[in-house]
Amino acid sequence: MKESSNSPKLIFEEKKAIKLFLWLFNVIFFSFDIFYYYILPSHRKPIGIQRDGLGIWVYPLIIAMLLVSIYFIKKENLYFVKYFYIISYLCIDIVDNLIRYLGTTKPFASGNIVEIIFIIFSPIFVNKKYFWIVSLGLIGKDIFLGLILKDYFAFFPAMVYLVLSLLAYILLVRFNSYINSLKSVYEELRQKEKLAIVGQMAAAIGHEIKNPLSSLKGFTQLQQERNPVGNEFYPIMIQEIDRINSIVNDLMYLGKPRKIKFEKASIKEIVAYTISITQQQAEMQGVSFQTIIAESLPPVQCEEKQLKQVFINLIKNAIEAMPDGGRIFIKVDVLTEKTLSISIEDEGYGIAEENIDILLEPFYTTKKDGTGLGLMVTNQIINDHKGEMKIESGIGIGTKVHVMLPITQKNTNNR
Ligand code: ADP
Ligand code: MG
Repeated sequence: MKESSNSPKLIFEEKKAIKLFLWLFNVIFFSFDIFYYYILPSHRKPIGIQRDGLGIWVYPLIIAMLLVSIYFIKKENLYFVKYFYIISYLCIDIVDNLIRYLGTTKPFASGNIVEIIFIIFSPIFVNKKYFWIVSLGLIGKDIFLGLILKDYFAFFPAMVYLVLSLLAYILLVRFNSYINSLKSVYEELRQKEKLAIVGQMAAAIGHEIKNPLSSLKGFTQLQQERNPVGNEFYPIMIQEIDRINSIVNDLMYLGKPRKIKFEKASIKEIVAYTISITQQQAEMQGVSFQTIIAESLPPVQCEEKQLKQVFINLIKNAIEAMPDGGRIFIKVDVLTEKTLSISIEDEGYGIAEENIDILLEPFYTTKKDGTGLGLMVTNQIINDHKGEMKIESGIGIGTKVHVMLPITQKNTNNR
C-alpha cells in the first residue's frame, strides 16, 4: 500500500498496527529478559544482574525507543515509527553483542524472541518496503555478527529468520492481493453507481430534450420547403439537429434497462446500410471502403436498428481516425458454426496501448467535439446481443475492431 495516501481511515489502520506492535514488542521484550536473565538463572546462581553486553543500559534505551515512538505518534508522524523501531533495535543489538562477544571466546547465542515478533508481525503493516527492511536487516545482522565474531553459530538464527520471513512474505502477499481485489471491487461498484446516476439523469434530460428537438426539426424542414431557393443553411441546421438527436440517444442508452426484440436480419444488408450512411463523410475525407463479405451468411438474430448503430459508430471512429484519408477494410465471415465475425480495420492514427482499456468508459474521448459515448454504447449493444468486441491497435499503424456475434439467439433477452 502506498504510504503517501493520507486517508484518515488508512492512518487509523496504521495507528492500530503501530500500537499493537509496540505493546507486543515491549511486553515480550521485558518478559523475555526477566525470564531469561533473572528467573531462569536464579536456580543456579543468586539473583542478580546477569545481563552482560550493554547490561542494564539496554533498558533505558528500549524505554527511550518507546518514548520517542509515542512522541512521533502524538505528532501524527505515524509511518515513520516502524522504521525507527527496527533500525534502532538493530543498532542496539549489534552494539550489545559486540560488547558481549568481541575478543572473548564465549559461544555466540543470539536470537532474541522479539526478533521473531518483528518478522512474523511485519505483515500487519501491509508494506513491502518495511517487510524487506525487517527481514534483510535481521538476517543481515546475524550474518554480520557471525563474520565479525568468526562464530558461525550466528548463521543458525539467520536460517530460522529466513524461513520465518518466507512465511511472513506469503502472508503479506496474500494481504496485498486481498486488498487489491477489494479495491477493484470497490472501484467497479463506484463506476457502476456513477453510471447509474449519470444514466438516470441523462435519460430524464434526454427525454425532455427529444420532444422540442423533433418539433424544431419539423419546423426547420417546413421552412426549407417554403423557401426552396437561396438558403443553404437549412440542410446544415437539420444535420446539426440530427447530431444532437444522436448524442441524446447515446446518452439515454447509458441508464435505461433495455429490452431487445430479436428478429432475423441479414448482416450483409446491415453492413451495406451503414456504409451508405457513412459514405458521404468518408468521401469528404478521402477514405475508401474495401469490403470482403462471405458469400453465404446465415441470418443473425438481432435488433437491426441497434446493430446498425454499432457499425455506424465503429465506421465513424475509423473515418475520424484518418483525417488525411486512407482505407477501411470491412470483413464479414462465419467464424464457427455459432459465431459470425465482423472486423473493421482502419489505417488511422491508432490508440496507445495504455488507453485501450479505458476506451469503453463513458465520456472518454480524445476528439475536440467527441462525446466519448460511441464505444460504450457499441459495447453495450454487443453485450446485449451476447457478442464480444475486441480492439487491437498500434500507434501510426491503425486500429482493428473485431466483433463476434452469435448466429442464433433465444427469442427475447431482457437486461
Ligand atoms: P468519440 O468518438 O466521441 O470520441 P468513442 O467512444 O467512439 O467516442 O471513442 C472514444 C475514443 O477512442 C476516441 O476519442 C478515440 O480516441 C479512440 N478511438 C476509437 N476508435 C478509434 C480508431 N478507430 N482509431 C483511433 N482511435 C480510436
Ligand atoms: Mg465515436
